[in-house]
Amino acid sequence: MDKLVYLDNSATTKISESVLSAMMPWLTEQYGNPSSLYTIGREAKAAIDHAREQVAAAIGAKPREIFFTGCGTESDNWAIKGTAHRLAQRGKKHIITSVFEHHAVLHSCQALEKEGFEVTYLPVDSEGYVNPADVEKAIRPDTALVTIMYANNEIGTIQPIKEIGRICREKKVWFHTDAVQAIGNVRINVEEENIDMLSLSGHKIHAPKGVGALYIRQGIFLDNFMDGGAQENRRRAGTENLASIVGLGQAMEDAHQGLEEKAARLTALRDRLMDGLLAIPHTRLNGGRDNRLCTNVNISFEGIEGEGLLLWLDMSGIAASSGSACTSGSLDPSHVLLAIGLPHGIAHGSLRLSLGRYNTDEDVDKALEVIPAVVEKLRAMSPVWQRIAQNS
Ligand code: PLP
Repeated sequence: MDKLVYLDNSATTKISESVLSAMMPWLTEQYGNPSSLYTIGREAKAAIDHAREQVAAAIGAKPREIFFTGCGTESDNWAIKGTAHRLAQRGKKHIITSVFEHHAVLHSCQALEKEGFEVTYLPVDSEGYVNPADVEKAIRPDTALVTIMYANNEIGTIQPIKEIGRICREKKVWFHTDAVQAIGNVRINVEEENIDMLSLSGHKIHAPKGVGALYIRQGIFLDNFMDGGAQENRRRAGTENLASIVGLGQAMEDAHQGLEEKAARLTALRDRLMDGLLAIPHTRLNGGRDNRLCTNVNISFEGIEGEGLLLWLDMSGIAASSGSACTSGSLDPSHVLLAIGLPHGIAHGSLRLSLGRYNTDEDVDKALEVIPAVVEKLRAMSPVWQRIAQNS
């Protein structure tokens, strides 16, 4: 079997050598509980403190503003539900978000609606961007939180976060952003971008699965996520996932070293891949070209099913995705593609390719050799395609 061409880095990434070697001691000899007072416990605590500093430094935060969590989903749940429950005590029971957030955000909002909170779901334009003026218009005296993702996980569009943050600051409304896909691809500074809370996840940046973090600006008090021991400044109890936290710290440091050079290399790869696929007739790019993650290509091919395409690509040694990883297995068209106005039929024929640190020119060559041939094969078998071809 040829080398796997892994083009699904938005679903998850390979653990890097540097992350693995940073983690190893904490999985083997250094097994102390960070809450214990003897030497190996104190060393474990120091390792967590160092990881907290690494995460904070990468986003322009203070170490005490970083809280480790079990994943990006947990960080989103905590920011949204923790804010809602805290500010409901002051009569603020309204939340603003967008229709194309990750389900970690959408389902958290829906759960709050069942508890009596009101949620405004802002639309996005046909290119996949939220309009800050819509955020401003939607804010009410009882608005507790605005939560808008930094970059979309399916179509890679980067939102005007600094401007939305400015509006929220002016209106004195807390602002959370889900930056799970943006971290490591975009240089983020929470201070400069007026961000009050930010969610991130380890496994998208070459750290292990099952670790994340929530940045909570000093002065913001949410309800605790978990009650129990004194971990995470008493706000998220539970013995820490020591080795993974160390891995996340290392991954954040690695991701932010030389970020601009890495992004320039990936942008060139992305554009070659994108333009090569758009040369196939009856295709369209989903999401705008400007302000787009350097890693994301999302294209619809008329007349075929994304699932069929994925299976053929898998047989050719290419791993890709037809929607977000969390919804794959469901045959409903992606809520993100419907939000930008794609008809169901076209949304079904979409492919997300997401690049990462380990992708090379040869990977793009292989994708550009295989995908057009598979699309042609599937179209030859598709009655829908026959109709499209006849009418064009
Ligand atoms: N938010 C976004 C934008 C994501 O893409 C994902 C995962 O795909 C998550 C949240 C959830 O992160 P995790 O897998 O760490 O729970």
